Amino acid sequence: MSSVIGPIALALHGGAGSEFARFATVERQAMEQALSEYLSAGEKLLQEGRPSVEVVEYVVRLLEDDPQFNAGRGSAFNAVGGHELDASIMDGLTRAAGAVGGLTTVKNPISLSRLVMTQSPHVLLIGAGAENFATEKNVDRVPNSYFSTAIARERWERAVQRPMTPLSSDKIGTVGCVALDQAGNLAAATSTGGMTNKAFGRIGDSPIIGAGTFADNRTCAVSCTGTGEHFIRNCIAYDLHARLAYLHQSLDEAVRVVLNEVLEPGDGGLIAVDRLGNVVTNYTTPGMARAAVDAASNRWVKLVR
Ligand code: ASP
Repeated sequence: MSSVIGPIALALHGGAGSEFARFATVERQAMEQALSEYLSAGEKLLQEGRPSVEVVEYVVRLLEDDPQFNAGRGSAFNAVGGHELDASIMDGLTRAAGAVGGLTTVKNPISLSRLVMTQSPHVLLIGAGAENFATEKNVDRVPNSYFSTAIARERWERAVQRPMTPLSSDKIGTVGCVALDQAGNLAAATSTGGMTNKAFGRIGDSPIIGAGTFADNRTCAVSCTGTGEHFIRNCIAYDLHARLAYLHQSLDEAVRVVLNEVLEPGDGGLIAVDRLGNVVTNYTTPGMARAAVDAASNRWVKLVR
């Protein structure tokens, strides 16, 4: 039996935000190096024929473990000085999805979201119930302070002092990954510590399927970053899928419309890959940490334009 090996494509993000322009050269280089390394690691797995759903989980775990990014270790502080983590994953072949919200002790939320997808009848588990599920599944646990870093604390302290909206955009966001594997299957994954100084109990778009994450083999896989409330209200990830499915827009055009016409400029960004392996990484914030390789082997690693 022969099976056709199709092209692969992969993109990852380390969040949309406004801080990149202020980065010292050494900070910028460290982030770019990490993005490039994780891109290569994911690409290698896809070249070995691994399924996209496994690859997006693997890459997001790398980003969660890296304290430079607001997911897992390095997560934003909430209004009560702690961390609540959200994540989701979706398999474009089956439209199976799993998500978790408000986690406080799970080292790698993305892996728990995959277990929700594969080992529970549910799509979304939150708070104490999600923590119980983590105990049942015996995943790695950490004290909440494991997620704290000095830089995330500084961002929080600045946000608390500023007399402005509690959803500070002065930040580095969320992480995510989308992939097309050799079998033509798409997958998407997103993980976050959420917005700095968010209310205790606030859930963003990242664990909401159709808002922050979506994948369907017929169209695209997408992972979003930005002010989650806007992505939830506008069902952004699903809207992108729907534009490809019903309006037959190209990925590039659909991304441009959702970021500039559905959302307000400044709301955030996204990474997406379509079923042919076209990749778009676009945003309307001052920057978005991103890295990608498309089906034509174009490769990029960037923080700003
Ligand atoms: N979208 C995330 C949230 O609202 C935050 C981010 O992407 O920076 O929780």
